[in-house]
Amino acid sequence: MEYRNLGNSGLKVSELSFGSWVTFVNQLGKKEAMDCMAYAYDQGVNFFDNAEAYASGESEILMGDILKKLNWGRDTYIVSSKVFWGGELPTQRGLSKKHINDACNAALNRLQVEYLDLFFCHRPDPETPIIETVYAMNDLLHQGKIMYWGTSEWSADEINQAFECAEKHHLRPPVMEQPQYNILHRERFEKEYKEIFEKYNYGTTIWSPLASGLLTGKYNDGIPKNSRFKVKGYEWLADSIDDVNFDKIKKVNAIADRLGIKPSQLAILWCLNNKNVSTVILGASKVSQLKENLESSKYIDLVTDEIINEINNS
Ligand code: NDP
Repeated sequence: MEYRNLGNSGLKVSELSFGSWVTFVNQLGKKEAMDCMAYAYDQGVNFFDNAEAYASGESEILMGDILKKLNWGRDTYIVSSKVFWGGELPTQRGLSKKHINDACNAALNRLQVEYLDLFFCHRPDPETPIIETVYAMNDLLHQGKIMYWGTSEWSADEINQAFECAEKHHLRPPVMEQPQYNILHRERFEKEYKEIFEKYNYGTTIWSPLASGLLTGKYNDGIPKNSRFKVKGYEWLADSIDDVNFDKIKKVNAIADRLGIKPSQLAILWCLNNKNVSTVILGASKVSQLKENLESSKYIDLVTDEIINEINNS
């Protein structure tokens, strides 16, 4: 496993990490989720991603129980939470100081840890002044409840505003963004964030490297049984299938075949090739998927600039 600095910080994050969205609670019970986390950790993964919204808090409870059971040294792993969707009431949502504080305390309880390494604003909140959010995160940093704070799916303009507020009021700026980035979804990361990377060396923990599994090629002939697109509550994924560029997926899958690697591995290596990616967050509903995906790094030398261009132009 290789480790990269999280943006401008000194934190070394494994270039492949593991997240719990959809899978924990909905697809994986305690034993299966623990097997995945233990396997990942044994392979050198040091970052585990979560959010208050995942399975309405149950995903953090499950991860917390597993962390307790596995009893890893607290100085050997990085765990995150995200604040935005904490419940239905007006006070349980968004990025007000109150909700940020409540969400952080609740995540600490659910994950059974004394501090969060990374705490993300899961979306921008146009109804809360950015300065209030920056102050709230700065206060949590000072209280030792979080180590680094970040954004998720914020525009470059909103990230710039957060930096400007932080600088003006001598507060700690965000360190990392959590954006979607994969072969099918490139625009914001590569174009809109270009200036953000140059100006701030902003870190990124990218999500859905396989576009929820589409890039494995397993949806090329329809939605398979026991796949994410069949999970109750995620019907919206199946509803969006008509917009998927299957021609491109098939061409990219053929490149993987030619190289003698799995389509999932090529898709992950394509993400790792971008130096503005600090870590690629993997998702998996089985240890076997995690194994296949974590083995990607072995083939890094196969993915030359010519291959990257071929993928981008396919
Ligand atoms: P992926 O795009 O990699 O999708 C993962 C899913 O694809 C798996 O659960 C599995 O689904 C399928 N899959 C994975 N590997 C294989 C394989 N080798 N062969 C076949 N199928 C495979 O990542 P996620 O969408 O899960 O995102 C990763 C993480 O990013 C999340 O867990 C979360 O932590 C974070 N995230 C953050 C968001 C944000 O807004 N900040 C939004 C979304 C995710 P199945 O077996 O069920 O088909």
